[in-house]
Amino acid sequence: MPRNYDIAELRRLDIAHHLPAQADWQEIEDLGGSRIITHADGCYIHDGDGNRILDGMAGLWCVNVGYGRDELAEVAREQMLELPYYNSFFKTANAPAILLAEKIASLTGGRLPHVFFNSSGSEANDTILRMVRHYWQVKGEHSRTIVISRHNAYHGSTVAGVSMGGMKVMHGQGFPAPGILPMAGIEHVRQPYWYNEGRDMTPEDFGTACAQAIEDKILEVGPENVAAFIGEPVQGAGGVIIPPANYWPQVEAICRKYGILLVCDEVICGFGRTGNIWGHETVGVKPDIIAMAKGLSSGYLPISAVAVSAEIVQVIKTGGDFVHGYTYSGHPVASAVALRNIEIMEREGLFEKVRNETGPYLAEKLATLRDHPLVGEARSVGLLGAVEVVADKATGARFGGAEGTAGPMVRDICIRNGLMVRGIRDSIVMCPPLIITPSQIDDLIGIIR
Ligand code: PLP
Repeated sequence: MPRNYDIAELRRLDIAHHLPAQADWQEIEDLGGSRIITHADGCYIHDGDGNRILDGMAGLWCVNVGYGRDELAEVAREQMLELPYYNSFFKTANAPAILLAEKIASLTGGRLPHVFFNSSGSEANDTILRMVRHYWQVKGEHSRTIVISRHNAYHGSTVAGVSMGGMKVMHGQGFPAPGILPMAGIEHVRQPYWYNEGRDMTPEDFGTACAQAIEDKILEVGPENVAAFIGEPVQGAGGVIIPPANYWPQVEAICRKYGILLVCDEVICGFGRTGNIWGHETVGVKPDIIAMAKGLSSGYLPISAVAVSAEIVQVIKTGGDFVHGYTYSGHPVASAVALRNIEIMEREGLFEKVRNETGPYLAEKLATLRDHPLVGEARSVGLLGAVEVVADKATGARFGGAEGTAGPMVRDICIRNGLMVRGIRDSIVMCPPLIITPSQIDDLIGIIR
């Protein structure tokens, strides 16, 4: 049972001492402090005011197996008592990290057999940036340093993550500090966001135009200078941007044409979210490197991983030390929890359930929102969905102009009505736990309507 917290006192301390992530601190103070989440079970979170809220976001896109899993707590306890910590710096390793690496490799069908651990999605992408640049250095193609990414991509909050990300607001736009972010050597191209940017074309033509933008950028900067292209199979934090079906295969062909490494950021899309184990399977490409986090441990402990092709590792092995790593790389407790979490997802058939049952059901239910006067588009892939809120259905005009403001407003109304969703510009996005039932999907869609 939850502890009996003094919620008013916690709110006071929250304002006095605690700085929440990705937040307007003055706004939170004006609101009298944060909403205090006290406990959670299954698909529901509970707050200090006694509200039970259906978690349509799986925390922050991560609690795939839902809340309250005893066996994850048990496995953490056992591992903490046996070996709470040891690293892989001193030519050492630990059993959970090795076994988890093997498990992840097998989930890639053996295509990406080598795994490097970190604690967060941002760190995974930092690892990737250093790894792809190092790979080309060792290989002797010293000019290949540029990484190409997309506008509105999200690859994390560290300096490298923000830089590879394409969110202008995170690059500091609007404040007088030009030239600091994004860091040098990162180039951004247009995003495959058909509803916002491509409605004057067919989705196919738009998909081709967006892939072409990547080739144009490669030619502009010189193919001999490009190390990698990185993209989320489906852009999550950008607003659940599901690309036209012909986009990713063309992106892969372009990368292969110029010998550029293809990196997929699977931090949201991995572990069943889009109806396959990996998002890159859903969009039909075979990357050289993938980043994963979130669903890897269902958020029970922080852990992320980078899975890498044999070819890349072979090259790096000829170059001596890869001088990169974190204190918590291969953390035994986080690894043990992740391993058991994957076992749960497999045992309960959650990947298949998303593909065959709950994913199609969410799509069917989202389609029923399309007749709503404020809904411009409702889309999903697996259990990742978005509703575009519009002021004028015919023209697609937004409430707050081009950037939009309706999403956060609708989100607040949803929360007051017992549903946690996210508002991103003028869209509402959802990413519920993979254990969500059809009747809970009915509740989710009902509250949004
Ligand atoms: N990459 C993607 C696609 C993400 O969605 C996120 C977080 O939302 C990250 C990277 C960063 O992960 P973290 O917040 O664990 O650093």
